[in-house]
Amino acid sequence: MTGTHDRTVVDINWNNLGFSYIRTDFRYLAHWRGGEWATGELTRDNVLHISEGSTALHYGQQCFEGLKAYRCQDGSINLFRPDQNAARMQASCGRLLMPAVPTEMFIEACRQVVKANEHFIPPYGTGGSLYLRPFVIGVGDNIGVKSAPEFIFSVFCIPVGPYFKGGLVPTNFITSQYDRAAPHGTGAAKVGGNYAASLLPGQEAHEKNFGDVIYLDPATHTKIEEVGSANFFAITKDGKKFVTPQSPSILPSITKYSLLHLAEKRLGLQVEEGEVYIDRLDEFGEAGACGTAAVVTPIGGIQHGDQFHVFFSETEVGPITRRLYTELVGIQTGDREAPQGWIVKV
Ligand SMILES: *Cc1c(COP(=O)(O)O)cnc(C)c1O
Repeated sequence: MTGTHDRTVVDINWNNLGFSYIRTDFRYLAHWRGGEWATGELTRDNVLHISEGSTALHYGQQCFEGLKAYRCQDGSINLFRPDQNAARMQASCGRLLMPAVPTEMFIEACRQVVKANEHFIPPYGTGGSLYLRPFVIGVGDNIGVKSAPEFIFSVFCIPVGPYFKGGLVPTNFITSQYDRAAPHGTGAAKVGGNYAASLLPGQEAHEKNFGDVIYLDPATHTKIEEVGSANFFAITKDGKKFVTPQSPSILPSITKYSLLHLAEKRLGLQVEEGEVYIDRLDEFGEAGACGTAAVVTPIGGIQHGDQFHVFFSETEVGPITRRLYTELVGIQTGDREAPQGWIVKV
């Protein structure tokens, strides 16, 4: 292992961080060869040297994860539900015929990366966090369409700012003619191919001044599935029910399942995973997008064809969305009591 004594002197304006690549000091790297994962280690090198025939480059054999480490008020460091990210990456690997990374190895890799780059964690109170990006890629000499002979598992990290600099501000979204995934394709796996498919519709949405695309169910285009990199939820007009779409082509968001739990157990709402028809949005008084990066983003309105549906308000966050946000972020940063097993200390 590379010595962790000579660290970069960090000169970062913590209050001005966005979501962009910053080269931190150490990343974790492990190889799978001959049927097993070799012991991984930290390296300073942020460049991968891989075969030109790597399946990750030609056939999209790769998957990734995203989770955050938070600095708490008492100086300790929280990881939020890393076992869930490990389990989801195992499912993604299974779908793409890649070897799964065991949960202990996954969490240990995250811990090592956070510890070695501790000086890059934004201080408590800045709203920033250390974003971890684990990934598995198929590598090694190959040309035929088949699973790779070798794999790499790596985890790197970057300090990121709060998603909302000026507080919780609603974002508008637009539906698309395009799909990010097929009905029984890879929508439920966190794989780059879904993202490649979402770049063009995403750009079209941005050109029209929308935050991102709301994808409809690929079979009928009548029901909301999710946002390109976040799940969708809505609150019924009577303020009593938290509803989120259910579909085999939605990426199962850990944030979404956390909000489902908090909505039921802490806010006393009824919760439902079901159908959300795009032409019946007037059943809802509030709506939001949720994910590790988006946290809880209130949705101002949704453009669908020539209809623009506004939920609570285009400028203000609804009361239930705000409570969900406060509860979730409070747990992540250690200010509120976490449900059993949600927080892993680094
Ligand atoms: C990662 C991701 C999400 C959010 O999942 P979290 O576990 O909450 O971060 C939602 N949708 C897609 C397509 C994703 O890739």
